[in-house]
Amino acid sequence: MNSKDLKTIRELLRVGRKIVIVPHKNPDGDAMGSCLALKHYLTALGHQAVVITPNDYPRFLKWMPGNQEALNFEKEEEKARALLEDAELIFTLDFNHLSRSGAMEAPLREARASFIMVDHHREPGDYALVTMSDSSMSSTCEMVYNLIEGLDGLDNIDPDMANCLYAGIVTDTGSFKFSATTSRTHRVAADLIDRGAKNTEIHNKIFDTNTPERLQLLGCALRNLIILKEFNTAYISLRQEELDACHYKKGDTEGFVNYGLTLEGIRFAVIFIENRDEGIIKISFRSEGNFSVNEFARTHFGGGGHLNAAGGRSHDSMEATIAHFESLLGTYREALTK
Ligand code: 5GP
Ligand code: MN
Repeated sequence: MNSKDLKTIRELLRVGRKIVIVPHKNPDGDAMGSCLALKHYLTALGHQAVVITPNDYPRFLKWMPGNQEALNFEKEEEKARALLEDAELIFTLDFNHLSRSGAMEAPLREARASFIMVDHHREPGDYALVTMSDSSMSSTCEMVYNLIEGLDGLDNIDPDMANCLYAGIVTDTGSFKFSATTSRTHRVAADLIDRGAKNTEIHNKIFDTNTPERLQLLGCALRNLIILKEFNTAYISLRQEELDACHYKKGDTEGFVNYGLTLEGIRFAVIFIENRDEGIIKISFRSEGNFSVNEFARTHFGGGGHLNAAGGRSHDSMEATIAHFESLLGTYREALTK
């Protein structure tokens, strides 16, 4: 971690501050875990810190200590806007372009506060006074742990914080199996267990919370799986009617895209999910090896992310989106097959 950034943050935190902490839209375990852990840390230091999420998040994250006090911008917009206007410092965690904060983008742009970005996605924007950006990191939670260590605060990590940080690491590493998982990641996780993270409970709460409807939806997704062997590619589509038939709730499709990658030889897996309310097809991209889904999502579907995990969207119909996607594969034949 850059010592100049640390020094700036130390200076900014020297006196009690009004602080807002923001995750990306549709926050996942890493986004919520890092925000809530940082909130606990800053509150213990005497700051007034509040987490504002752009929208709701899945029920399997609602056990996280402190999540009841987080504001949902969609539901409490007036209060959230007042806090953003009043803030002296705004931490943006687990994203690196303000557009990733959905409806919060405009109020964030108008805010007078200094911004601190802590994030592990590629190609960061330049809106922050302090940009802590490292795409080699497993998770934003590992970076928040490093930040706290840099501020000599490790002994302030209580069990609530440890649980939040561990949950984020587990989420973004796919339970320590994705390639950004390092020996350091395991050491951080081990230290978090020593500081009170209940590792088995966390895994159960995040991954073993299926409902019958979600399993039905998984069945539907797997029936819709298309394998394009000549491109080592597999994709799944879920239409709004299919989601409705299985009483879709936020978070229910989490992890579905990964099934494509479990097929032998498949290097590129995609899921297309219709969202009629927003008038978009939300797309998740995953890859194995060097094929950059970050670049693919950025170039063709207005998105981005990491080398092996990225997202994007299309404003076309499902049919047109899939046809466009298939038409692109020829250009990537070599990268996908060599
Ligand atoms: P997911 O497919 O699970 O939604 O996202 C995979 C990764 O890509 C996550 O790290 C997420 O933050 C990032 N991501 C998802 N959608 C977008 C997007 O529209 N734009 C950018 N820049 N990143 C995204
Ligand atoms: Mn993350």
